[in-house]
Amino acid sequence: MNMMKTMMILMLVAAFASCGRQGEAQSQTAGKDGKVIRVVTTTGMIGDAVKNVGGDRVEVTTLMGPGIDPHLYKASEGDVTRMASANMIFYNGLHLEGKMGEIFEKMSSRVKTVAVASEIDPALLQTPEAYEGNFDPHIWFDVSLWMQAVAAVKDALVEYDEAHAEIYRQNAAAYLNELVTLHQYVQDQAERINAETRVLVTAHDAFNYFGTAYGFQVRGLQGISTAAETGTADVQDLADFIVERRIPAMFVETSVSPRYIEALQAAVKSKGFEVEIGGKLFSDAMGDPGTPEGTYVGMVRHNIDTIVKALLKVAS
Ligand SMILES: [Zn+2]
Repeated sequence: MNMMKTMMILMLVAAFASCGRQGEAQSQTAGKDGKVIRVVTTTGMIGDAVKNVGGDRVEVTTLMGPGIDPHLYKASEGDVTRMASANMIFYNGLHLEGKMGEIFEKMSSRVKTVAVASEIDPALLQTPEAYEGNFDPHIWFDVSLWMQAVAAVKDALVEYDEAHAEIYRQNAAAYLNELVTLHQYVQDQAERINAETRVLVTAHDAFNYFGTAYGFQVRGLQGISTAAETGTADVQDLADFIVERRIPAMFVETSVSPRYIEALQAAVKSKGFEVEIGGKLFSDAMGDPGTPEGTYVGMVRHNIDTIVKALLKVAS
């Protein structure tokens, strides 16, 4: 199945690349109204995608910086002003930004507002039982799925600023090529861990797409949205699972308080087993700007490297 998926991605990239070669590159300076496009994005991952596709043509403001949890994020007055005065707004959709739905709806009547998940084939989306029939919004964890979000960014920029369509197509083709390599890298790294050790325990249920794409069983302490409360029963259940499966390491997330995972670690200890905290993963937010983890590619590499290191170390 992975083989098929990889081939489809390659075909997609080839299609982009061939449109990219037609026609000449156009001037970077003369644009719609002769100005760059002012873009506001919610998460850093989306901001990074817009920068990669838009290049010099866009000026990107990201509302949710390092460590910020999009499930709980409430727009400030300043955010609303920034959005209202932007040319385009890009958000994830699928209720990731659970407290901002109404704002996007209002904004869409005056600003071009795009959900990057909107073009993804619903057949590829997951509907975890615990999420009450809604789609899981964490699409960036499967690089091949995120490529479709990048394609949605490209389509929106092409539509908004047709005069520079070639630039967006070429940039998107180059970036998607990079993501094909990244997807392969995560697959290769994951395969270093034997199948029964590929269990990922994290602070919240963000890793379903990751698990499906790269062959991990995933368990999160909190639900799909961090807005859900964690009860003592959840902690005990997961502690039992860890002890039973003798899971060597679990992971904290930069955008979720570590106290839940620490409580879980204590619960496991009280059952006579030791589970390590294998490191910090960038789940719903990227790292600091200017660091490798401050980009989507860097955060994905950091996550798989951290997971493999922790699970291999203790398994060997
Ligand atoms: Zn999340």
